Amino acid sequence: MKYTQTLDALIIGAGPSGLSALIKLKKQGVHNVRILDMSQRIGGTWANNDYPGLRCDIPSEMYSLGYAPNPQWSRTYAPQAEIQQYLEGVAQQFNITDQIQLNTEVTAARWQEKEQLWHIETAADECFKARFFIPATGFIGEAKMPEFPGQSEFKGTMFHSGLWNHRHDLSGETVAVIGSGASAIQFVPAIQPRVKKLINFQRTPSWVLPKPDVAIPSPLKGFYQRFPNVHRLVRETALLAAEPVLPTFEHEPILRSLSHPLGLLNIRRSVRDKTLRKQLKPDHTLGCKRPMFSNDWYKALDQDNVEVVFKGIERISQRGVIDSDGKEYPVDTIIYGTGYAVDDPAIYQRITGRHGETLADTWNGEPRAYQGMAIHGFPNLFMMLGPNSHSLVGSVMWTSEHQGIYIAQAIRKLLDSGEARMEVKESVQKNFNQRIETRLDRMPIRPEICKSYYLDAKGRNRFVWPEYGFNIKKRLTQVNLSDYQLG
Ligand SMILES: Cc1cc2nc3c(=O)[nH]c(=O)nc-3n(C[C@H](O)[C@H](O)[C@H](O)COP(=O)(O)OP(=O)(O)OC[C@H]3O[C@@H](n4cnc5c(N)ncnc54)[C@H](O)[C@@H]3O)c2cc1C
Repeated sequence: MKYTQTLDALIIGAGPSGLSALIKLKKQGVHNVRILDMSQRIGGTWANNDYPGLRCDIPSEMYSLGYAPNPQWSRTYAPQAEIQQYLEGVAQQFNITDQIQLNTEVTAARWQEKEQLWHIETAADECFKARFFIPATGFIGEAKMPEFPGQSEFKGTMFHSGLWNHRHDLSGETVAVIGSGASAIQFVPAIQPRVKKLINFQRTPSWVLPKPDVAIPSPLKGFYQRFPNVHRLVRETALLAAEPVLPTFEHEPILRSLSHPLGLLNIRRSVRDKTLRKQLKPDHTLGCKRPMFSNDWYKALDQDNVEVVFKGIERISQRGVIDSDGKEYPVDTIIYGTGYAVDDPAIYQRITGRHGETLADTWNGEPRAYQGMAIHGFPNLFMMLGPNSHSLVGSVMWTSEHQGIYIAQAIRKLLDSGEARMEVKESVQKNFNQRIETRLDRMPIRPEICKSYYLDAKGRNRFVWPEYGFNIKKRLTQVNLSDYQLG
């Protein structure tokens, strides 16, 4: 292998996290930085997914970067293309597009203790050395096809919603949709009017709450443009107003009494059939799975050309789907809305730390980090949106932005200290995880309540950072070098 370049930092991923890390590093005067992304476009999730109906499910005012306010959102919940364009615009605005190398897949990254550098390899046989390594590969990226028996025998068309087949016309077809998660609730209403018949297979219905999704009037956009401070205040007020979500999540009876009626109202106002209403009622506490929002999911399921099957799938036949009772549903196309490789993304196998172990081996199904970023055994590495990094307040972009601030400050401080390496102390990582454990235990995100991608192999909530947003913000804007072993 020939390593041609040595960078101050190499980032994987040109989504909101990677962009934030690069922009914040630039602000700290660290310029010899590059982003590699295997995608063809900037935008991460929003460049790689484009199924019909895709839009964010968090208000755009919050699902955006505080350092790059956008007064021009067309709706309160922006559609995919607009978010992708926004992120591309952020890269242009901060003049970093030259530092982003697209169509480049990272295949391996190894820490070299002697050199105190990361060695990073790509699928195109390029090799980089970097003092700091920042995997910002997201937490839901790789579309995961399920493996039902007989799947390869199916004679029709099949694809995953994350790899939507836009060349295939669904008009007039009978279509099976497997799944009822965050993607299915968006694309089912978008395709239902076009297809002859839609059969939705869902085993465990989830809570879907109403969504205040409206077009933003032009005068308001103009007002935000003219008065950016007012715009900022609106965002900050919305963030502050979301703080009580945390204590609510810690008191299950309160959470149920506040949220379940809204979910039931959403079903009742859209579904005429009483049996279907009952079947759609989830049996777990809202929040155990990611809460979902839609005004048209239940309406779509109530249409005459839609059948909902509340059974497991036994196998796929040549003609269609066979349910757990052995009934066959002949279809032209099967669309898998079955989610993403959250447990075992490829990148965990590709990063090797100080002990020669990969992240996958180190974690062994139980991911742990310090503040969702630093991992003992992996010096000079900051993972973005890693274990227990998700705040219940704000949004993923809010977290990406603040992690970017932390990482850039940490790197700046290390460079200024004259040391070459920083590794989070084992005790610091342990204490952090112990500190959040009590709160995690109080939340309704537990295996006895539901099966959820929030839970790791041992049933621990590996997603949420259960603290108030203002506390998280404080912790992510103050770097303590004493949390790290320097060398
Ligand atoms: C369909 C879908 C809808 C979503 N909707 C919402 C929503 O409404 N609200 C919300 O809060 N969150 C949503 N999410 C989660 C969303 O992923 C995050 O909000 C956010 O995009 C994470 O940003 P990121 O930059 O960390 O990662 P991503 O946006 O996932 O970007 C990661 C990038 O890393 C690149 N990459 C990965 N591995 C490699 C490699 N080995 N080599 C090179 N490049 C690599 C990928 O190509 C990708 O561009 C959604 C996710 C999906 C898949």
